[in-house]
Amino acid sequence: MTLREVGPASDAADPGGASPSGSKGVALRQRDDNVVVLSSRLAEVRAHALLADVIRQEFAGRVALVSSFGAESAILLHLVSRIDRAMPVIFIDTGRLFAQTHAYRDMLAARLGLTDIRRAGPDATLLSGEDADRSLWRRDPDRCCAIRKVAPLAKALEGFDAWITGRKRFHGGDRSGLALVEADDRRVKLNPLADWSHSDIEAYLRRHSLPRHPLVAEGFLSIGCEPCTDRTFSDAAAGDNPRQGRWRGRDKSECGIHLGIERHGLKASGM
Ligand code: SF4
Repeated sequence: MTLREVGPASDAADPGGASPSGSKGVALRQRDDNVVVLSSRLAEVRAHALLADVIRQEFAGRVALVSSFGAESAILLHLVSRIDRAMPVIFIDTGRLFAQTHAYRDMLAARLGLTDIRRAGPDATLLSGEDADRSLWRRDPDRCCAIRKVAPLAKALEGFDAWITGRKRFHGGDRSGLALVEADDRRVKLNPLADWSHSDIEAYLRRHSLPRHPLVAEGFLSIGCEPCTDRTFSDAAAGDNPRQGRWRGRDKSECGIHLGIERHGLKASGM
């Protein structure tokens, strides 16, 4: 009987095995690369399956995607475009966004063939009454977010029973324990990328050759309104929080759209 060797080759048989630059080191790096690629593809398959079920079955015609067209938004927009290019996409235009975000939105929507981008903006009367000099973000950022983000979104979501966000656990803070599906006031909120890692995101963007928001190359790894967004100065690949440039120096890490309309004392039709 002949015995076939199925275990790992010994270091003695591999003169370069003890060195990271040897053949064993190369094999280990290849193995780790394979783990990253397969993990990323699995994350993509799971997210796509959840989205397809929600968009085509569970909430067909009653669900919207909410997108900031920010640093990582291309992933969810691309996933949705593979299922239904006519899916409603709500874009909250606070009136304080970077010009690059508007340009990126137009370019990405055209490239992905998305046909129903819905701009949701703040009420003009509220703005003239409370933020005529455009300094509310400095005086009272929670109120500024309430009238520029939360109320417009509440109005835009009228008629929908569910909405989809691109939040992820690795962004930290309140998002660390994020569920894939949650209750949100009267609606269901879905976070199909909740369990994605930074490497999943980078791998997806590369695999599908998706364009990045132009400010990413300038060090902005999370992109919101211009007055409240700073460069991130972090290494997301090393586990740093990519949102640390948002509201820098303030005790604030969320705009409030994920805290529920009732907590703001707002109504969808106004304030
Ligand atoms: S992020 Fe800043 S500018 Fe934008 S709505 Fe909130 S406080 Fe206002």
